[in-house]
Amino acid sequence: MTTKVKGLKAKYNIGIDIGGTTIKAGIIDEKGEFLELDKNAFDVFPVEVRDNKVIIETKTDISGKDFIYGLSDLVAYIMIANKLEKANINSLGICAPGWIREGDWVYCNSIPNVSGAHLTKDLENMLGIPVYAANDAKAAAVAEYEHRKSLGKSMLFFIVGTGIGGAYIDKNGKLFESDDNFNLEVGHTVVDQGASTRDCNCGRKGHFEAHASTITLVNMANEKYGWTQDEKQFLVTIHSFNDLDEIGKEKVWWGINENQVEYAVNLLNQESLNPKVSYGELLTRFRFLLEKNDTHNMINKIMDGENVDDSMLKDCAKQLRDKYEWIKNGETIYGAAKAGNQEANELINDQIEQLAIGISNANAIMNSRQIVISGAMSKSFDFIKDRLIKRVNEMRLSPELKIEITAGQVQDGGILGAAALYKQYGKEKVRSARVQGKF
Ligand SMILES: [Zn+2]
Repeated sequence: MTTKVKGLKAKYNIGIDIGGTTIKAGIIDEKGEFLELDKNAFDVFPVEVRDNKVIIETKTDISGKDFIYGLSDLVAYIMIANKLEKANINSLGICAPGWIREGDWVYCNSIPNVSGAHLTKDLENMLGIPVYAANDAKAAAVAEYEHRKSLGKSMLFFIVGTGIGGAYIDKNGKLFESDDNFNLEVGHTVVDQGASTRDCNCGRKGHFEAHASTITLVNMANEKYGWTQDEKQFLVTIHSFNDLDEIGKEKVWWGINENQVEYAVNLLNQESLNPKVSYGELLTRFRFLLEKNDTHNMINKIMDGENVDDSMLKDCAKQLRDKYEWIKNGETIYGAAKAGNQEANELINDQIEQLAIGISNANAIMNSRQIVISGAMSKSFDFIKDRLIKRVNEMRLSPELKIEITAGQVQDGGILGAAALYKQYGKEKVRSARVQGKF
């Protein structure tokens, strides 16, 4: 509540977690907990407030400078809505995907326009409070380490989701830093350069995240068990029947999403459509006409065909739908595996093997007894835990090495870790800046 703040000398830290689609921020109190926010106080600002977090959309099409103005506005809204003054704020911490070096956002794959932005310097000038910034995996590791009260132990931290990020915190609780601070990029270490090597987002091949991330699991499921190109084309064709003029020929080639499938399957199941040809025949006709670039004609011919076989089409629709249901995303694949789907289990076994290789590689370098798997994968961790631990133990360099692998426990680790960054970097910086009268 805002009333808690009034008259307090206590210092708060604001944490901001920049993601590819949303930017989330929170005010963190001295106990490391989210300050309760009064939603109504934010009414006049263009933000969403949910679970004591302030959320805005990530604009990827603006310049780095405008992006920083946006962050500055966000902090201003948070301070105004909560009647906070500069004196109440100990620091602003920011975490973001990509490479952050001494407060500069050197490069970000998902938001390329920000490359080179001076995150901390510009925001300090705009806001007059100390600002710290780190890569998002590193900030999340800081939050996880604090939550676990791990002092005295090191921690090797992985975020496994659409990509794989990493961080290492030493026995004294210090986040590992290097010359350019572009380290623990575990997702881009090589795990496979053989015949089955896969392309990585970074442009190279065989990298850990190209073989073990959740998105790879879904891609592999699609490649092995998903719709064939013909089936996709067929579904999109059926889908585009009603409004082909709007959609146009090009869209026929686009990928297909869940809504399109539902739509297509519904269409297939409608008696009124009364298709007059078999599924196989539809595909053959479709391919032939597509080659001729005659989409309108194609649709008409398909629908005017002969050999009515509704049951076959319905059956086909069901097959296509069933085929799709379990490979929609990581969660559905894990759900299928838990329900005994053999194909899903085989895919997950492959993923576990790749995870074990990547984790073992990183741990051969960092040697930590405490390994944490965070991100989307932590939700499915219980299901793979035993197999993963077994394989990592089989791959370790000596049986003397004790390795404990657990799932991440912290929600909103990005915000919490960002808000705690000042402890990693901060004391001298704040002191020297205060002496200079900067803050
Ligand atoms: Zn890579």
